[in-house]
Amino acid sequence: MRIDEILAHNERFLQQTQLPVIGHAPRKHLAVVTCMDCRLVQMFEQALGLERGDVLELRTAGATISEEERKDAANDLIRSLAGGIYLLGVREVAVIGHTQCGLAHVNPTALIASMQALGVDPQKLIEQEELGDVQGLLRWLGAFNDVHVNVRQVVNVIRNSPFLPKIPINGLVIDINTGKLDLVDRAA
Ligand SMILES: [Zn+2]
Repeated sequence: MRIDEILAHNERFLQQTQLPVIGHAPRKHLAVVTCMDCRLVQMFEQALGLERGDVLELRTAGATISEEERKDAANDLIRSLAGGIYLLGVREVAVIGHTQCGLAHVNPTALIASMQALGVDPQKLIEQEELGDVQGLLRWLGAFNDVHVNVRQVVNVIRNSPFLPKIPINGLVIDINTGKLDLVDRAA
């Protein structure tokens, strides 16, 4: 398993590296919400000029808040932002979607086939979670068609959350191939 590879690397890392001790409050008082895409690893921080200790990074599939969450309080993204804002001094948020996202244009047939191949019954999940149909399943997953529209939606959910204060919430899209940022919704 990969975990053995990681543990072996970690032993070498500890022998070679001594990290400086820094505080847990983000120096830039900023939280960034982005996707879990593997191509963002390292590139994301480099493209934004971020160092260890600068910002909180929250990653969800598609940088998306599931539309099926009817109550904000149950939403992990809102909960994490609340922790960042109330406990760690965050005063600005940037939601950053990206081009060529795996959650964009999800093929429902492929999704269902993949679930079934791995022994999970999509229909049972749809019924149990009252998702309605396959489209509901896609919404639960956070799938979307247009990254710019999706970023604006997530920005609005965060802006309108009764659990969060009125602080600047910005929406951006990063080009996964070049790292170029496109500001799609600047906080007022
Ligand atoms: Zn993505």
